[in-house]
Amino acid sequence: EDTGIIYDVAIIGSGPAGYTAAIRGGQYGLKVALIEADPSLGGTCLHVGCIPTKALLFNAEIWDYLKEAAEYGITGIGTPQLDWAAVQTRKSSIVTKHTKGLDFLMKKNKVTVVRGYGRLTGPAVDGVHTVDLEASDGAKQQLKAKNILLATGSEARMLFGLKPDDRILTNIEMLSVAQPPKSLIVIGAGAVGVEFSSIFRSFGTEVTIVEFLPRLVPVEDEDISKELTRQFKKRNIDVNTASTVQSIEKTDAGVKVTWTTANGQTRDKEAEKVLVAVGRAPRTANVGIEKTKIELDRGFVKVDETQQTAEPGIYAIGDIVAGLPQLAHVGAMSGIVAMAKIAGRKFRPVRRDRIPGCTYTDPQIGSAGLTEAQAKEKGYEVKIGKFPFAGNSKATIVDSHDGFVKIVADAKYGELLGVHIIGPQATELIAEAIAVMELEGTVDELMFTIHAHPTLSEAMLDAYAAVEGMAINA
Ligand code: FAD
Repeated sequence: EDTGIIYDVAIIGSGPAGYTAAIRGGQYGLKVALIEADPSLGGTCLHVGCIPTKALLFNAEIWDYLKEAAEYGITGIGTPQLDWAAVQTRKSSIVTKHTKGLDFLMKKNKVTVVRGYGRLTGPAVDGVHTVDLEASDGAKQQLKAKNILLATGSEARMLFGLKPDDRILTNIEMLSVAQPPKSLIVIGAGAVGVEFSSIFRSFGTEVTIVEFLPRLVPVEDEDISKELTRQFKKRNIDVNTASTVQSIEKTDAGVKVTWTTANGQTRDKEAEKVLVAVGRAPRTANVGIEKTKIELDRGFVKVDETQQTAEPGIYAIGDIVAGLPQLAHVGAMSGIVAMAKIAGRKFRPVRRDRIPGCTYTDPQIGSAGLTEAQAKEKGYEVKIGKFPFAGNSKATIVDSHDGFVKIVADAKYGELLGVHIIGPQATELIAEAIAVMELEGTVDELMFTIHAHPTLSEAMLDAYAAVEGMAINA
């Protein structure tokens, strides 16, 4: 079927990369089609990623406080009970609310939402691309557009060719367990693995982490990994790093995971369930890439600084892009950049060293820019400023004084090269660091920047001053 419409842009995939690009395209007055195979818009982030995990995390935090209610002078509430069904209902209602919000935003910005699975058909003919569309009932049609944004996202990698079920889980199954499991083995200690570990530990699950690399959250500064490990051990999470999983077998009681340690010993453990969180594979198979000049790097799409692929008029955004971290806000900004390029507007490319990385564990992690080791590798002479939340009065008030703010500054000019925070509200505090880094603020300016008292953000001020050895509160 040919409707005769030629869109300015067709976007394949409605995760944060695709839907953000669609909205911006509408705001620019472009004729935009948003193609989505799932019944609802929003992708991994909204349905089985960022949003539902953070909803559970909020429940976990309240639960942790309630367990110690008497310490805060609150008595007479009896023994708190965890109503898991209600926890799940709340999580789902948040997802539903935002799904409806997206439907509204598409209408508001005059984006045409097209249901179906999209595939590229090859290069543009006379400047017009054709996308093959297959509806869930198998019905086929084609859609034409001058530009295409590929935003098909990613999916959980599995080990040993296993398929997820009720005992061997990915993020999808983990988010809808009927009850928090008594015991859980988490394979992989990247953001997804440590977040689920933290959340379910709060709900009483016995958690064991098995990570291949020598430390938790391996992309973070080493000091952050050390502190998270210390905190997790305090919460009785069994942390095994430098450990290579050899097998995952089902047993009468649940699942048994066997791994070898750094010194060659074999260890195993049984648990009710195992969560496989060993990274996310880009969804770049079966979308017609082979019919184009698009170049891949281990499955990820290579792009230039405008997000354009090697095939003119086809752009890639979000989790499928090579060389960028798989984060919702990175996907969203890459979509904004591609749309600005297409609309002929001004933009700034996505910069690898200007991305906030947030891990929503207890304690939280927020980081930006270079780690201390990376800065030294790049040949910088660095100065480090470190300030512990133990010296921050607001942290004491909210009873959360573990962790620190660490500043990696260039010794010569005092430019912030990296900021690494672990502690209360770290995922919010990092926003200040990103703004400062965008504006190329220096330590001597920041030391004189007034931060309100008593706030957690004062820990930032003290950390900047600590670069010159002059934190006030430590
Ligand atoms: P996706 O969100 O994966 O969306 C892709 C969409 O494309 C899907 O809807 C899919 O159905 C559709 N699609 C695929 N192929 C086709 C096709 N051929 N035709 C039509 N439609 C198609 N990031 C953060 O920044 N913060 C967090 O707190 C966070 N938490 C996370 C927690 C978990 C458990 C997980 C798994 C991830 C988390 N992430 C988080 C990562 C974040 O979810 C991803 O970076 C983000 O979803 C990527 O967006 P995207 O638009 O590239 O792809």
